[in-house]
Amino acid sequence: MVILTVDQAKQWMIESQKKLVEHKEQLTTLDQAIGDGDHGINMARGFSEVVDKIEGTEYDTVADVLKSAAMTLTAKVGGASGPLYGTAFLKMAVSLQGKEVTAEAFVDAVDAGLEGIQTRGKAEFGEKTLFDVWYQVAAFLHSEPYDTWEGILEVCQAIIEDTREMVALRGRASYLKERSKGHIDPGSMSSFYIFQAFVDVLEWEKA
Ligand SMILES: [Mg+2]
Repeated sequence: MVILTVDQAKQWMIESQKKLVEHKEQLTTLDQAIGDGDHGINMARGFSEVVDKIEGTEYDTVADVLKSAAMTLTAKVGGASGPLYGTAFLKMAVSLQGKEVTAEAFVDAVDAGLEGIQTRGKAEFGEKTLFDVWYQVAAFLHSEPYDTWEGILEVCQAIIEDTREMVALRGRASYLKERSKGHIDPGSMSSFYIFQAFVDVLEWEKA
């Protein structure tokens, strides 16, 4: 069964953009606490560029949509997050090339995205980065059937809260060492909005 069509993939990016714009201030505040405060602006602007690009373009496959998003994010989003999200979507696109997006194919694609983030960011689980969210979502997708994927939201919320108590070991926040504790990781939060947008576009959500 196809779970994500080209139109749904476009809608995923559009819904992501809406959520990131809506929560721009929150992401900025989180990044001001342990980073340089640009995450809200970067993500809102980057995804607005993605939407501008994909809304005016015809795509044959979901892989093409994600590749297009990846190129835009890598080119337009500053800081560490542009290349990380760009890599994640690019690896997902490569994984989905020539395939219909079944639940199984999507799980493989998230694995590929996760690996991309890990390689690009040299991240491990528990270092208070967006990798933590992707890692938990991938683990969940492997263990749960498609019709329970709404559970992605709870999985994300739990790991986001966990990042609050973590000491940052990667990126700018790691300079703060122990002082990074007590703050949610901004990249984890933006990843949540992207996965929340994904859940929004799945068809069973509308039933
Ligand atoms: Mg920043």
